[in-house]
Amino acid sequence: MRVTPIAHTLVDWEAVRGVLGGTAFADQAGEEFDVTDADHLAELAGRACYKAWGRKRPATATTAGYLDNILDQGHYSVLEHSSVTFYVEGVSRALLVELERHRFLSFSVESQRYVDQEVSHPVPTLPPLFDALPERTLWEALEGHYQRSLDLYRAAVAETARHGYSVKESREAARSFLPNSTPVDLIVTGNLRAWRDVLAKRYHSAADAEIRGFAAIVLGHLRELAPFSVQDFPTTPIAEAAHA
Ligand SMILES: Cc1cc2nc3c(=O)[nH]c(=O)nc-3n(C[C@H](O)[C@H](O)[C@H](O)COP(=O)(O)OP(=O)(O)OC[C@H]3O[C@@H](n4cnc5c(N)ncnc54)[C@H](O)[C@@H]3O)c2cc1C
Repeated sequence: MRVTPIAHTLVDWEAVRGVLGGTAFADQAGEEFDVTDADHLAELAGRACYKAWGRKRPATATTAGYLDNILDQGHYSVLEHSSVTFYVEGVSRALLVELERHRFLSFSVESQRYVDQEVSHPVPTLPPLFDALPERTLWEALEGHYQRSLDLYRAAVAETARHGYSVKESREAARSFLPNSTPVDLIVTGNLRAWRDVLAKRYHSAADAEIRGFAAIVLGHLRELAPFSVQDFPTTPIAEAAHA
């Protein structure tokens, strides 16, 4: 799996100074090199609600302190202004089904009707559990199963094409032979609030191992792009509450 951040929100600080010039916030804005634009924009949005540009309270004078307070209060809408887009490669179709349930993410997904799956994905995704086992027996069995699926896929494309169906029609039917472990590439965008919601549910011990790994990578990138907006997430996945 490869998860690459390819786009994120940047602030036009000149425009901000044009609107808020002369305030403590605007005078410092864009010049605090240890604060990212994503975090800064969330702070700006929060301060805009109260026109609190003075940075007077010591506890909330820094962006870190300000966003800590925002997270404490659940004032999450200020996190909706910045978004991050990832190019995701080589995750399973099973992961895609789970990720797509998060309704506030936006997707552009490789089409199995148009893209030749044998060319695009000659090997399957490996469930983390198979990778963790000392023997490679299950991994090799999965690879064999996947190759046989591709054989059936190829044969189905050829057979339907022989009957005069288009490549698109042939592939859309032939994909029925492909398993959950078939890889998929996609572009996914979310604002910081949406990503936080994904992390709360998927950077979690109850989540499927593959999507938990995906969430850990996303969190790693967000710690670079918007560290104070995700400062409350732990360094290891959130533990499932013990059942009574
Ligand atoms: C461990 C785990 C196991 C799961 N197992 C299954 C399973 O077996 N079968 C299955 O079908 N799904 C399963 N899911 C998926 C789960 O039910 C959710 O679809 C998924 O986690 C997305 O969550 P969400 O709907 O809260 O997120 P989003 O769609 O991103 O919504 C975010 C929040 O917005 C609000 N919201 C969004 N839409 C509505 C609405 N229509 N009405 C009211 N409030 C709304 C809610 O507060 C929601 O939490 C599982 C998820 C997890 C994490």
